[in-house]
Amino acid sequence: MALPTLRPRIGMADLRTAALPPKVAEPFYSSAEWIALRDRVRCEANGRCQAQGCGRTERRMYVDHIVELKDGGAPLDRSNVWLLCASHHTAKTASERARRTARPGGL
Ligand SMILES: [Zn+2]
Repeated sequence: MALPTLRPRIGMADLRTAALPPKVAEPFYSSAEWIALRDRVRCEANGRCQAQGCGRTERRMYVDHIVELKDGGAPLDRSNVWLLCASHHTAKTASERARRTARPGGL
């Protein structure tokens, strides 16, 4: 219960001028171990998408965790990482998200 005689001790922040915090990439993705694995996967895949029947090469390719980290996938296990083109990466990410949110308790 608020006492009507006391004023709040902290003033309201003027959020109209507050800047958003800067976006920070997850530190894992700038680690030397990940960068080495990422480069190895790109090289071994010959720059080609490894989704079944694809083989596309694009300017922007994605080194992707087959079992995502948020699903408990091993971050630095070579067998859990593959190279995907943009459309396969987008499709996989969307289907993983849909599957995750369909579970009881979601996200
Ligand atoms: Zn592809």
